[in-house]
Amino acid sequence: MQLESIERLILAFSTLPGIGKKSARRLTFFLLDHDPSLGKNLSEALLGVYESIDHCPQCGFYKTREEPCSLCSDLHRDTASLCVVSKIQDCIAIESSNAFLGQYHILGGTISPLDGVSPKDLRIDALFQRIADGSFTEIVLALDATVDGETTAQYLYSHLDGSDLRITRIAAGIPFGTELEYTDRITISRALNMRRDFSR
Ligand SMILES: [Zn+2]
Repeated sequence: MQLESIERLILAFSTLPGIGKKSARRLTFFLLDHDPSLGKNLSEALLGVYESIDHCPQCGFYKTREEPCSLCSDLHRDTASLCVVSKIQDCIAIESSNAFLGQYHILGGTISPLDGVSPKDLRIDALFQRIADGSFTEIVLALDATVDGETTAQYLYSHLDGSDLRITRIAAGIPFGTELEYTDRITISRALNMRRDFSR
């Protein structure tokens, strides 16, 4: 029974990104060989996050269950421009650049035919609804400079083109194949400051 629970923990660690079976075993035995308070703190912190953190139904960012979203409820932010990103980490990266002070919409991924991710799997309908209901004048497409990021940007542009909206995309400066999450603040800041109108 005891060994089964160890195997279960190894398996649980190995489901995390970047953690192979070897690292999962190392983490498991590290926890077992140290003060139990270490692992208990970890499990309590995990439980605490699941119990207290939710996603904002509007932008998709993290929020506490009791309080409004820190981004959507911030009255100092511009309500005319909306920045579309694929994931929360991208939003955090852009925020740390201080180059954008508008609203956000997190898609929850990118369109990827190879991985079977279609527009229906993302928060794209919610985005279009938000744009239809909102007072936005500019939509900034801040998607990864990858094939899937480009596919997603083109898809969004094809549905928004022809409206009165100004559609922009973050400028070059971020090398192709690089994910926003791993790009330094200066490059992100420059790319946002140099954004241009979207064209095919
Ligand atoms: Zn929000």
